[in-house]
Amino acid sequence: MKRKCIWCLKDESAETFEKKAHTIPKSLGGDNYYKNICDSCNSYFGNRDSTLTTYSIEEALKEAFNISRKRLLVPERTKRKVGRFKSKFFEIKEKKGRLSLNVKTSFRFTQGFQSQLCRNFKRGLYKMVYEELHRQNKIDEYLNYNIIREFARYNKGELPVIYFFRSFGAIMLMEEEPAKTILYFERMTYLFSSEKFIEIEFLGHVFGFPITNFSEEDFKTYLNQSIALKKGHFKSFVLIKKLTDIDITLSILN
Ligand SMILES: [Zn+2]
Repeated sequence: MKRKCIWCLKDESAETFEKKAHTIPKSLGGDNYYKNICDSCNSYFGNRDSTLTTYSIEEALKEAFNISRKRLLVPERTKRKVGRFKSKFFEIKEKKGRLSLNVKTSFRFTQGFQSQLCRNFKRGLYKMVYEELHRQNKIDEYLNYNIIREFARYNKGELPVIYFFRSFGAIMLMEEEPAKTILYFERMTYLFSSEKFIEIEFLGHVFGFPITNFSEEDFKTYLNQSIALKKGHFKSFVLIKKLTDIDITLSILN
């Protein structure tokens, strides 16, 4: 069967499919790739547009999760060679198992920088989730995913990302995590999923997203159902507006 790119929808007659397209960045411990991502789209996410930003979409994603992953990695137990990421924005210090962050001058506190970084982080998150939905065969081909393609790949429109705050510092981790990072759908009973909304657990964090067209009413209903499901496990949620809305250092574990 001919390959067809899940992003630009072009097939092998119009695009090449030679590069391995990692769904979760390798330097975050990702080990899986998906065949139906063309080289142009793969390179779009991995390379910065130097006229717009000093970082790529994937780097915006890595900046946040690299820190969480460091927090979860137990060096003695990590047999596998794990990917590494050099942060542009944060200097991570470790003292007696606690992480602290020093912000580099390249991380600016201006409104413009912060909102752009947040937008690009969200696009990176949608990129990873959409590709993993395909790779894990959790995609309903009758649904229309244009809102994700437009936002993540073409920088159009705006999509929400919901972040849930845990009540307790207990995170279920598999032995191999996070040396070999996995993105989970439906692993825990508190993760909601429906035709229009899905939730993921990734490196100790829980996020919720719409995956197809939705109304304001749909969104309200989703949030109510999701919150009911999370009773006792999660205390609150936020619609992320800046990167630091997320507990990137997983301070709940301290
Ligand atoms: Zn493509």
